[in-house]
Amino acid sequence: MDLDTTTLRIAFGVMALVLVLLFYFSAYRSTRSPYSGWWCLALVFFLSGSAAFLLNGTAHQWWANTLGNVLLVLGSAAVWAGARSLREVPPLRWVFTGVPLVTLVASAVDNPGTNTWSGGAVFLSAMCLTIGLASRELWRLEPGYSRVRVPMAAAAAAMSVFYFGRLVYFLLEGPDGHTFATFFGSAGTTLVTMVLLVVVSFSMAALSTEQQTRALRMVATRDDLTGLLNRKAFLDLATELLSDRAVTPGTGALVLADLDNFKAVNDTHGHAAGDVALRAFAAASQDTVRPTDLVGRYGGEEFILLIPGATAGRADKIAEEISRRLAEVSTADGLEMPTVSYGVALYDAETSDVDDLIAAADRALYRAKSLGRNRTVHSDPRG
Ligand code: GH3
Ligand code: MG
Ligand code: MG
Repeated sequence: MDLDTTTLRIAFGVMALVLVLLFYFSAYRSTRSPYSGWWCLALVFFLSGSAAFLLNGTAHQWWANTLGNVLLVLGSAAVWAGARSLREVPPLRWVFTGVPLVTLVASAVDNPGTNTWSGGAVFLSAMCLTIGLASRELWRLEPGYSRVRVPMAAAAAAMSVFYFGRLVYFLLEGPDGHTFATFFGSAGTTLVTMVLLVVVSFSMAALSTEQQTRALRMVATRDDLTGLLNRKAFLDLATELLSDRAVTPGTGALVLADLDNFKAVNDTHGHAAGDVALRAFAAASQDTVRPTDLVGRYGGEEFILLIPGATAGRADKIAEEISRRLAEVSTADGLEMPTVSYGVALYDAETSDVDDLIAAADRALYRAKSLGRNRTVHSDPRG
């Protein structure tokens, strides 16, 4: 049975067009998820690239064939960018500039007017690479991500392997070889791509919604000035940590930190300078503790840390290190960073109430202030 490439390309085009509209109106417009946005863009590239190939055999072939190759490569670059957006990693620029440019040159210098396979090896390598990278990106998502992650990663891997097969047989036999023409020619590829698009549309709703939910959760739990946990998120996580002793046994420290004479920073240098100091403190504390420790903005210029496993001595060292890092920060306008006072309360296996722990740290912080600021005071373990 001979499949007619032109008919298949038209069928593919209609299907891609329907999917663009579907992805745009059902996923992108309602969730604004970057994943669905990248897929809309990818489909537009695939659609226009495929349309360009319809001009093969006409006087326009020399530019249309070259353009078609470039557009398809851009399409799979957008697929990769979409997969990266799920991990909130921005796309790499060379995939949108270098890879299409190399494809363009390879195709343009390979007689595109008479050779419908101009730049074929470079084009096939570029497709194999970008789709393979998209698959890798999907595997790298945390397993808690949507259940469609694995089918998507597998489909992209299969597609990348398919393009690798095309590349190998293209190099071995050329485009007219028996195996290439039978399994890896244009008709076969169009069919395989259609199957892939079915898998993608199956994943679209799930991945877009999950991406949007995660973005909203991020907004709801973060302080927007410093990027630290906000007060509610900190308290929720700290409560969970202290109540679930099966997961987090043992002892640790809760630290309240308050910037010294911060009002004077605002009064002298302006509110914007105050914000710079708050961000600098947030960065200094995050750089000092482990990623698994909790750091939050408790309010205004007060911060709160929960450090499981920390002893009194370790809490002192952490406070000292945060202050040292903060003092080292220099700004263009010579703003001097404020010093910091810390109140520390230790918890043990019996502690379960976060509010009591914070109250103890707050009393210690108050003493640090009245003893002259820029120091760490521990709460009295006897109350
Ligand atoms: P102390 O050493 O006793 O803590 O004195 P202080 O000046 O740091 O304390 P006070 O509570 O008098 O002042 C806190 C100031 O923090 C007042 C408020 O305007 C400022 N502040 C609170 N939130 C922000 C913010 O988001 N940005 C800026 N720039 N300032 C803020
Ligand atoms: Mg304060
Ligand atoms: Mg203060």
